[in-house]
Amino acid sequence: MGVRLKRSIFVATIKTMETAIRVRFAPSPTGPLHVGGVRTALFNYLFAKKHNGVFVLRIEDTDQNRCVDGAEGYIADALSWCGIPFDEGPGKNGGYGPYKQSKRRAIYEKHLKILLDKGLAYYAFDAHEDLDRERKNHEAKGKTFIYNWHNRSRGRLVNSLVLSKDEVQKRIDSGLPYVVRFLTPKDTVIHLSDMVRGEIEIDSNTLDDKILFKSDGMPTYHLANVVDDHLMKISHVIRGEEWLPSLALHQLLYTAFGWKAPKFAHLPLILKPSGKGKLSKRDGDKLGFPVFPIAWNSGESYTAGYRESGYFPDAVINFLAFLGWNPGTEKEFFKLDELVESFDLKQVNKAGARFDPEKILWFNRHYLQNKTNTVLAERMIAENEILKPVDSKYIALVVGLVKERANLSSDLWGLCHYFFEAPKTYNEKGLKKAWKAESEGLMSDLSAALDRFNDKSSETLRSEFSQWIEEQGVGFGKVMMPLRLALVGALEGADVFDIIHCIGKAEAIFRIKALIDKA
Ligand code: GLU
Repeated sequence: MGVRLKRSIFVATIKTMETAIRVRFAPSPTGPLHVGGVRTALFNYLFAKKHNGVFVLRIEDTDQNRCVDGAEGYIADALSWCGIPFDEGPGKNGGYGPYKQSKRRAIYEKHLKILLDKGLAYYAFDAHEDLDRERKNHEAKGKTFIYNWHNRSRGRLVNSLVLSKDEVQKRIDSGLPYVVRFLTPKDTVIHLSDMVRGEIEIDSNTLDDKILFKSDGMPTYHLANVVDDHLMKISHVIRGEEWLPSLALHQLLYTAFGWKAPKFAHLPLILKPSGKGKLSKRDGDKLGFPVFPIAWNSGESYTAGYRESGYFPDAVINFLAFLGWNPGTEKEFFKLDELVESFDLKQVNKAGARFDPEKILWFNRHYLQNKTNTVLAERMIAENEILKPVDSKYIALVVGLVKERANLSSDLWGLCHYFFEAPKTYNEKGLKKAWKAESEGLMSDLSAALDRFNDKSSETLRSEFSQWIEEQGVGFGKVMMPLRLALVGALEGADVFDIIHCIGKAEAIFRIKALIDKA
């Protein structure tokens, strides 16, 4: 009994240690989430699940001017379509909310005051024009203006470091606009540690005194992000490389508050298909591939995402996982649970990851080919209104006959529409090639004969046809080409006997007659 109890305490301790892993995805709702954002969310999700941790969604909407209607809902929908939903976030309280920064203003004000009281932040009253003039003056001398130790108390800048206490209070009370800046320490080497990049050293003299609180009464990203990561007990910050330059300031802020900083991992950039430069939303338009997981409807314009373009979430996820990570083996196909099992931040690369639209198509083909016909049929029904009244078993049967040639679910309709509707037109080249002087006679004889054929299976039809063609004493192609044209509308498509078996003899005869009338 005693031994058992000890064991359960041991297990419980391990569990508590494990539940201490908390990561967050912290997008700003400035528009739809693009694949780069989804990759960041995915790596956070994988890390959380691997360590029995919690995946938090935090909406960083302190810059109200840049917030876009619908973006927040889009982010949640996109994560859920990808199969990587958040555990805690807006609408899913885990005890660390609110999860929207615009609802946490009082928290930031309180923390800002702590820094002001400690003398680690200061008020700055400089007007835009004055700062612009400083910048220009510096530029004229070939220098860069930095608002820091070098300039802050030289007299040209107006802040609480140079003004008297009374003057500062007077300005604040009279409603003069001000910002609050961080007092970057001078002559300090900042030691940073990143799980992907290793150890980094930054000279504090190169940093500017970043604004922590804006004149609109809102905190900046830096203050809100650090305060929230601390209060939400985030253990690991996993984010894109573009945030690496902010790390020194964040580290200084943790020290200023006297807090232990989380561990950091900055993920490599996602590069354009050419490998040159960062992938942008515009590259998708230019090169014709989706950059959003699901469609984005801005009200003015509609942009299809991977979902609407015929991709499956497992393919998208598998592809994105390889943008900056690899398992160190030859294995390329990973379902989500296998990714969770194999994922390790140690195997995240430093080098930028090239976005290859061909590769995601290749992944999609693999996943599509491995889906059951029933699943593909469901997807086809969802994508094609015309199929809503059709028996899903019939659709599944048809899908099984054509899916081999599909890369995208949206390819399926084009590959099998003639199983559901008679051709409306005939391919001109096909008609020229297939329709000869004897075709009309042959096709009318065939439609009469077809009625008597045993259509129990494609095989019985095949042998009935072979026999009939032999009796006519004509070449196989002379019958099969116009027949295919009648059934499909072009000289392509599935096996003719499979088609007749599926659509039925009566429909086949109807289509043959329709071609005779038109040709
Ligand atoms: N709000 C930032 C973004 O939009 C978050 C960066 C971070 O994860 O710290 O990506």
